[in-house]
Amino acid sequence: MTIIKGRPVFGGIARGVISYYHRDEVLISKLKVSDPEREWDRYILAKSEAMEELNELYEQAKEEIGKNDAQIFYIHQMILNDNQYERLIADYILIKRYNADYAVARTAQKFSDMLSNMDSDYIKERQADVNDVSDRIIRHIQNRSGNTFSLEGMSIICADDLLPSETVTLDKTKVAAFCTSGGSTNSHTAILAKTMNIPALIGMGEALTDEYDGKYAVVDGYSGNLYIEPDEKTVKMLEHKEDEEGRKKELLRRLKGRKNITRDGREFAVYANLGSLSDIPFAIENDAGGVGLFRSEFMYLQRESFPDEEELFYNYRRVVEDMKGKRVVIRTLDIGADKNVGYFGLDKELNPAMGFRAVRVCLERQDIFRTQLRALYRASVYGQLAILIPMIIDVEEIRQVKKITESVKEELLEQGIPFNSDVEIGAMIETPAAVMISDLLAKEVDFFSIGTNDLEQFTLAIDRQNPHYEAVVPQNHLAVLRMIKTVCDNAHVCGKHVCICGELGADLSLTEIFLDMHVDALSVAPPQILPVRKMIRSINLSDRRQIHNNIQQALKY
Ligand code: PEP
Ligand code: MG
Repeated sequence: MTIIKGRPVFGGIARGVISYYHRDEVLISKLKVSDPEREWDRYILAKSEAMEELNELYEQAKEEIGKNDAQIFYIHQMILNDNQYERLIADYILIKRYNADYAVARTAQKFSDMLSNMDSDYIKERQADVNDVSDRIIRHIQNRSGNTFSLEGMSIICADDLLPSETVTLDKTKVAAFCTSGGSTNSHTAILAKTMNIPALIGMGEALTDEYDGKYAVVDGYSGNLYIEPDEKTVKMLEHKEDEEGRKKELLRRLKGRKNITRDGREFAVYANLGSLSDIPFAIENDAGGVGLFRSEFMYLQRESFPDEEELFYNYRRVVEDMKGKRVVIRTLDIGADKNVGYFGLDKELNPAMGFRAVRVCLERQDIFRTQLRALYRASVYGQLAILIPMIIDVEEIRQVKKITESVKEELLEQGIPFNSDVEIGAMIETPAAVMISDLLAKEVDFFSIGTNDLEQFTLAIDRQNPHYEAVVPQNHLAVLRMIKTVCDNAHVCGKHVCICGELGADLSLTEIFLDMHVDALSVAPPQILPVRKMIRSINLSDRRQIHNNIQQALKY
């Protein structure tokens, strides 16, 4: 038996066979070749294999997602046959005598640079397609298999680290647990695991390698241990633990249908954070008061091209209908940073968390934003929908967003398409700038939602993905707690409500403090709803001596 220690993100015992995920890192050497004709033949063969593959993908996609969305593979075939594209490759191979994979990579780079200087957004988006097609040919030249990662049975996914786009494309019905060498508890992969009720361990370091691929293992999401080929004694110990935890969960389940009410009668809302339609049953099963944060960008990650308005509308309508009139807060695209997809054609950035992301992208690429807003407003008649804008740093951004929403509403009105004209618009408070101007923002929006994951990273100046995060950052930093208090005070002066939707909202050691700061709602991963309810029901806010001391102590005022 081998034991590897990590930091638990989410409790639970999970069993399965280790499946080690390797990212397809591509190495391209720059070589002068003695036989360019041979190199050209390698390119031609790779091209025909890529063409065949695209044909199959087109046929398959047509069946699964319809002809319109399948068109992308047709466009890729056209790029592959483009004369100008091929002439450049020929120039690199036959005239300049470079190796075939380098020739394709250079051509892709040249094409991308050229497209990025065009005015049209549509053409700019084709950059990602050129890169995608070129990667496909290079893969064939190098005889590498695709980046597909298929799971046989229940698997423990181990990896160096996992991007959100990689996590969302895994077949969840076969994922027993996640274990990563790097990562931090605030990373999106960790958050996804929590939402899906899947045990996850992070920060396992170099001990976690692919030598364990294919071995049976058990993840203990409580202690943070991964047991590879566990012995009989360990198996018994884990079974015993599982029984005990099962009993605790059963007790929690008895709180279903009860209120989130303190012992002295103050009631609070506890909502669920969701990433996709498949998470809705978790919200319902855990008795969520609504959806406090629907991370809409995840829908853009699982695909090769932009979803159209109909598809978005269908998805948003599903969430609001399934939540049966309960509040559903849908966050507009928070694309960029660690949640990036090729077809957006966003540039590679040195520091993407502080880069061109979220509302910044939406205000510049208004075509994408308007499509999303139209779908949201159309869905608003099917339940209680609210719109949340991420990464706000300035009042002007909110004003611009409101201008666009007004114009979208006018357009829908003209077209006779029904929508609710009173949809609440909220700002995410997840930058220190937003905290400092929360008094001004409160006058512009209907509500605030505090994203403590980003707020912590920007306030404490450490990337939320950094594997040293937990070791470096003091827990519940005073600066962050004081910021939350400031935001609550500024919102309430204007009669606006405040939710905490970052991971800190589920920290039970802070629930009492948050309630006494007059936070109106907490939005947490579905399996954390009942533990938060249990905590709220144990608190007596009218015991001022105790509460007052706690607040004073906690905020050191
Ligand atoms: C946050 O930043 O706290 C938040 C809720 O948003 P996300 O984790 O998706 O960045
Ligand atoms: Mg955020």
